[in-house]
Amino acid sequence: MPPSFSCNVGDTMTNPSQKMNLLGLSPEKMKDFFVSLGEKPFRAQQMLKWIHQTGAEDFDVMTNISKASRDKIREVACIEYPEVIYQSDSKDGTRKWVMKMHGGSAIETVYIPEGDRGTLCVSSQIGCSLDCSFCSTGKQGFNRDLTVAEIIGQVFVAAKSFDVPGEKRERKITNVVMMGMGEPLMNFDNVVDAMALMMDDNAYCLSKRRVTLSTSGVVPALYELAKVTDVSLAISLHAPNDTLRNELVPINRKYPIKELIAACQNYLSNLPDKRKITIEYTMMEDVNDSLEQAKELADVLRELPCKINLIPFNPFPASGYKRPSNNRVYRFRDFLTEQGYVVTIRSTRGDDIDAACGQLVGNVEDKTRRNERYIKLREIHEQGANPT
Ligand code: SAH
Ligand code: SF4
Repeated sequence: MPPSFSCNVGDTMTNPSQKMNLLGLSPEKMKDFFVSLGEKPFRAQQMLKWIHQTGAEDFDVMTNISKASRDKIREVACIEYPEVIYQSDSKDGTRKWVMKMHGGSAIETVYIPEGDRGTLCVSSQIGCSLDCSFCSTGKQGFNRDLTVAEIIGQVFVAAKSFDVPGEKRERKITNVVMMGMGEPLMNFDNVVDAMALMMDDNAYCLSKRRVTLSTSGVVPALYELAKVTDVSLAISLHAPNDTLRNELVPINRKYPIKELIAACQNYLSNLPDKRKITIEYTMMEDVNDSLEQAKELADVLRELPCKINLIPFNPFPASGYKRPSNNRVYRFRDFLTEQGYVVTIRSTRGDDIDAACGQLVGNVEDKTRRNERYIKLREIHEQGANPT
């Protein structure tokens, strides 16, 4: 009997007791893997296609790879993806998955159809360490980084969920946004490898314009990102000055707005094409939604090629913030439009299934217990203690 191995979902390194999970290998690492087995490098392309374009979970279906090679691969490798513990569909077509990761924690992934586009919102970490004051993921604290297999696994699972048996896969996912749980730039290497798979011709084949990384502004990592990828960039700004941003997005105390904008300009200047940064601005009543703040925002962004996406705050229990009225949101938008900016308002999608921005918490407790937990966390925060 062959020794029983468990699949190494996380790491992409092989070790004596664990198999390599091929789901998490970037195109380059897949090539290295096949070369290390003494196989031709083009096998990597075949394997990527099987896994990411047909959703193969088993080496036996890979009929263009010889049986001898398949047996060799099976000895040392496996294909393992996150387990879906919950899937729900919203009235508006939004689909949400709760997926269980190794160690028992869960993360959330959301699919949002809109016209001929289908956008998948992917998580990069379990929880988040950056503790933005209006974000439920931040309130949850940080648990751990997701591995490449766990990040791309969300795309794998989502794409598979739309498959119709016996039919060729339809391209339902046209865009990916790294806007789920976590701060992607705090999990740099894994996110970069996963995005390489999203864009690879043998995997998900998305154009660099249709893969967007959203960050709260980890400035040194933005400079590094410019050297290794050319995906689109979204910046979670949320405030037009450092005083307010320090309060809403604490990482601003380390990397203030001016430095962030310079890092964005550097990123754009490294792109081979002409693109704009998306500025995300979550609007909270009487916090950052006044006309004076719109004026300040228009001034602060003047030197940056950008479009502005206004996100009316999505409430969660004990957040302490309110969503502004539509009138206030429109007034803010109209002012910025008059100033020459392209401004969109993000429509709330999937809120009947708690799938809207900032509502992703990734725990599988029932809602009542979840609410209690928020209230408790908030109390701890207000007392100034360090929640554990
Ligand atoms: N960490 C990254 C990506 C994940 S958050 C970032 O901060 O950019 C994705 C987007 O949702 C960010 O713009 C974030 O500020 C916003 N967001 C977080 N909580 C929200 C809430 N309660 N309502 C509306 N938007 C929220
Ligand atoms: Fe983290 Fe982004 Fe939430 Fe801030 S908004 S706590 S960076 S996930």
